[in-house]
Amino acid sequence: MESFKNSAPAVSPVVKTKKHRNFPMVPRVVFGTGSFDQLGEILMPKRVNSEAPVIFLVDDVFEGTPLSTRIPAIFNDQIIFISSEEEPKTDQVDALVQKIKLDFDALPSGIVGIGGGTLLDLAKAVAIMLTNKGSASAYQGWDLVQKPAIYHVGIPTISGTGAEVSRTTVLLGPERKLGINSDFTPFDQVVLDPDLTQGVPKEQWFYTGMDCFIHCIESLNGTFLNAFSESYGEKALDLCKQVYLSDLEASDARDKLMMASWHGGMSIAYSQVGVAHAMSYGLSYVLGVRHGIGNCLVFQYLEEFYPDGVAVFKEMIQKHQIVLPKGICSHLTDAQFDVMIKVALSLEPLWENAIGKDWKKVITAEKLKNIYQKI
Ligand code: NAD
Ligand code: ZN
Repeated sequence: MESFKNSAPAVSPVVKTKKHRNFPMVPRVVFGTGSFDQLGEILMPKRVNSEAPVIFLVDDVFEGTPLSTRIPAIFNDQIIFISSEEEPKTDQVDALVQKIKLDFDALPSGIVGIGGGTLLDLAKAVAIMLTNKGSASAYQGWDLVQKPAIYHVGIPTISGTGAEVSRTTVLLGPERKLGINSDFTPFDQVVLDPDLTQGVPKEQWFYTGMDCFIHCIESLNGTFLNAFSESYGEKALDLCKQVYLSDLEASDARDKLMMASWHGGMSIAYSQVGVAHAMSYGLSYVLGVRHGIGNCLVFQYLEEFYPDGVAVFKEMIQKHQIVLPKGICSHLTDAQFDVMIKVALSLEPLWENAIGKDWKKVITAEKLKNIYQKI
């Protein structure tokens, strides 16, 4: 009989495996033309009691429009119209939270954001700050939020940012423009009704849509790419090309751009953005340039990093006869350039994704200044 006495059990060598991120996704989503009208029934079971309102944060572009009359506000619900003229700020979030706490004895049953990335980010941030102490600026960063947010719903009215699926809410704080990245940030419910995007002005449609296109290019060409990100990024890129380079029917284009935004957001959830976003954050911080147009202003000069993407972008610009503003940085002082470059360079994960671990050997302040000076 064979003896096993001296044979040690087969043990595989101890290999330190990389820790993979375990991130939350939006648990419920409704998609389709007219789905906005299901909002009332979606909210009903989430209402804690008739004293705990639902607060609707709505882009003021909808004030007095038919959409505003379709908002299912009942009991003591409140509709707050907010301008998206400027990107959201931490003190704006703090002021909204304070107002809601003063206006009501009970915590709201939920927060509903209706608008573009600006309103979606505000809704996420307000939902978080209603249950977490202090100023929103204290939570800008990664995984600093302690307590779950209150129930929050996102309803995009313009497509491209991916803010409807993302784990972040990008805020301009006293010291930096940075997201509150946390497991409590994503919406509990998203309503994707492509009809809501009907009134978007053409240039804005282009700039915000290009945010999605650039998410795809930066994700698909990044060193962080993996099969998860690639599968979403490729789909989103294909949809962007259909929307911006072929002649789809208007309603088909709205549907497809809304899904491109979703997939583009999912793609960067498991990878990262890159050069255009890093540099666009600098532009936005110093000059208040908005996200979509800022990305476009930078991206046009990034052939060195994304040659194929920039070529397709130029085709899209031409097809839609978009004229990007010029001379944005022409009047800047050296000190302003320095701040812009500092903000851009501080976004290390973006550079690491774009270039690799040794990015500091390739990316210098002079190189960024040369690009900024062209804008
Ligand atoms: P936005 O929300 O700033 O809106 C842009 C313009 O479009 C505004 O004038 C708005 O009134 C108008 N608009 C929106 N919907 C409309 C409609 N249906 N009809 C007519 N006008 C309409 O635009 P955006 O590009 O979606 O968002 C930019 C913001 O999103 C920035 O603050 C950026 O930092 C943020 N962002 C967030 C994420 C994230 O993951 N959280 C990702 C990317 C960008
Ligand atoms: Zn973006």
